[in-house]
Formats: sequence, C-alpha cells, structure tokens
Amino acid sequence: MSVPLLDISRQYDKIKNELNRAVTDVLAHGKFILGPEVKELESKVAHMSGVAHGIGVASGTDALLLALRAVGVGAGDEVITTTFSFFATAGVISRLGATPVFVDIEPDSYNIDPTKIEDAITPKTKAIVPVHLYGQIADMDAINEIAHRHNLKVVEDAAQAIGAQYKNRPAGSFGDLACYSFYPTKNLGASGDGGMIVTNDDESGELCRMLRVHGAKPKYYHKIIGYNSRLASMQAAVLLVKLPFLNEWSRKRIAHAEKYNSAFADIPEIVIPTVKEYTTFHIYNQYTIAVPNRDALMSVLREKEIGFEIYYPVPFHRQECFAKLGYKPEQFPICEKISSEVISLPIYPEMTVEEQQKVIEAVRTAVG
Ligand SMILES: *Cc1c(COP(=O)(O)O)cnc(C)c1O
Repeated sequence: MSVPLLDISRQYDKIKNELNRAVTDVLAHGKFILGPEVKELESKVAHMSGVAHGIGVASGTDALLLALRAVGVGAGDEVITTTFSFFATAGVISRLGATPVFVDIEPDSYNIDPTKIEDAITPKTKAIVPVHLYGQIADMDAINEIAHRHNLKVVEDAAQAIGAQYKNRPAGSFGDLACYSFYPTKNLGASGDGGMIVTNDDESGELCRMLRVHGAKPKYYHKIIGYNSRLASMQAAVLLVKLPFLNEWSRKRIAHAEKYNSAFADIPEIVIPTVKEYTTFHIYNQYTIAVPNRDALMSVLREKEIGFEIYYPVPFHRQECFAKLGYKPEQFPICEKISSEVISLPIYPEMTVEEQQKVIEAVRTAVG
C-alpha cells in the first residue's frame, strides 16, 4: 500500500515504551479482568464526557446492548435509529427482541434527520439511538426535545465520536446513556475489543455494572440475567496510555481534513464533509466525501494503492436480515443517494504531508 487507510503501528512506534510498561504492569499484578486500570479509565472517560459514571465493557456493541437493556428495551418495544450506521447499532435492538425503526438521514451531516423522527414514533416506541457518524455529533438538542415530549429514552451511539463536541458540550453528555467503542480503528483504540457506557444516572449505571457480570450483585446473587461483558485490564491500561494524546490526535485529524477540504474546494463534483453550525469539535474518525462517480474514483485509488473504504455500502433498510421489517428504498431517498456516493479517505494523525498529497492528487485526477 502506498498510502494505507490507517496504519496503527505508527501510533505504537511513538508511545512504545509507555505501552510496553503498562502492559507489563498488568501481567505482573495479575488482576486481568475489571482491575485497577479499568476503574481509572472509567472515571477518566466519565469525566471527559461530563457525567458521573463510566462502565467498562467488552465492546462498543455490548455497550449498546447493555445500555438499551438498562433503559428497559425488550420484546415488543420499538427503538428509533438511523438507517445509515455500522451494523451493531441496529443489531443490538433486534437481539433484545425489540424492533428497530429506521429513519432517513440529513443530506449534509448524514446523521439521523430529527425532522423525520416524530413520524416514526408509535405507542410502542421506547427509545431513540442517534449515531454520531464519522465523529460529528447528531443534532442532540432537536432529538432530546422530541424524546422529552414523547417520554422516550435516548442512548447515544458515540462509538465514532469520543472527544467530539456539540455546542461546546462533549459527546456522552446528551443521552440518558452513551456508548463508546475502543475497537482499534476508533480514535481511542485498544489493542483488542473494548467499550464503555457513560451515564449521569446512578440507577442506570448500577444496572449496567450488574449486567456486565451476569446480572450479579453481590457476586453469585442474581436478581436479573445479564451478560459476560467485562473490560480487560490490559485494554484499559493501553487506553490509559493513549487517552492523554486523544485531543492532539483529533486536532491532527482536523488539520488533515482542512487540507483535504481546501484541496478539493475547486472541484464541484466533490462534496466535502459538512461541519454543522452546532459542531464545535468534529473528531473525524472518518474523512468522508461524496462523489457522483464513485466506481471511477475507486479504481484510480486501487491502481495507485491508496487505501479507502465505503462506510456504509448497504443501509439497514436494505439488509437481508431486516427484510421482514418491510421497508422500501423509496422511504429513504437521502440515504439511498448518499450511500452510493460516499467514500472515506485516509485521515489517521500520523499520515505524512507526502502521503496526503498522493491522496489529493489521485482524487483530483479521478474526479476533477
Ligand atoms: C464501531 C462501532 C460500533 C461497535 O463497536 P465495537 O467495539 O466494534 O463492538 C457501534 N456503532 C458504531 C457507529 C461504530 O462505529
């Protein structure tokens, strides 16, 4: 690959000694599951999210699963979410026996369109799951206003948005609960799977703490049936080393995004990412452009060995596993168009000036 979509090893090269020491410390103390590093990470991530509680779990997917359980989602309920996200967002709703209800996206942010949420509400609706796609927070004031009026719970899928801000408020502070993923490709990535739920609500926090250990409290006493979803101390140790760099890394991503934006400004066919007026910090987990002839761009990028990915080629309403929900593509005109045009380009913090120049030239040749 001349320019990979992401090269995680470069991050390791820079903080090798700290990471090695942190991992060795865990090997030495032997408290591998929910150990002291997990507690410290929970308190730091809760603090940066402006809430009281952090609950470390095994993945971002599990964070969503447990958070939805904690707000009472179960069989017969409906949960409203975007049709345009990573599969986990919708999958967890079905796994709880509830029905995901999909809503189209905004044509500029590609996040759930709040003006289309109310039409999707029925007496069975229990919760709304907005996703902060690519690192830009969804329009949370509008979403929370609707949720409040209809007495619905809100669970933020902040898997791609740790450290992002909306009207100067951090991701994780808007929903009843919010969920992070520490999957290695996320802005704060572990060396394996990991996730966290954050919440300001004492009761929900306690419930999530029980749910991650089979519903036990105290140990071996089960009032409810939970899951095995514990965060490993090794992962928390890695994340604690990386956390102080998160802001700097996100700023480097922003700098790369701004460079791309100005390099593509004179090509009308390229739609650069829209930063909404309420977005005070977009963390660019992805830098995603939209182009009318994506296939042509993809073949040039392949030929020049430049990494790219389509997030996401198949929206939820067109997934085979959701066919029984009976959606028609015409119900999601914005997503239908956008999902055929988006393409994400390399934006990792360690990308060099020369590498970015290669990407820019390839895109300009293919599209311009
Ligand atoms: C990554 C991601 C998840 C799932 O996180 P995992 O840690 O991979 O389980 C959920 N939602 C979104 C939007 C994601 O990007």
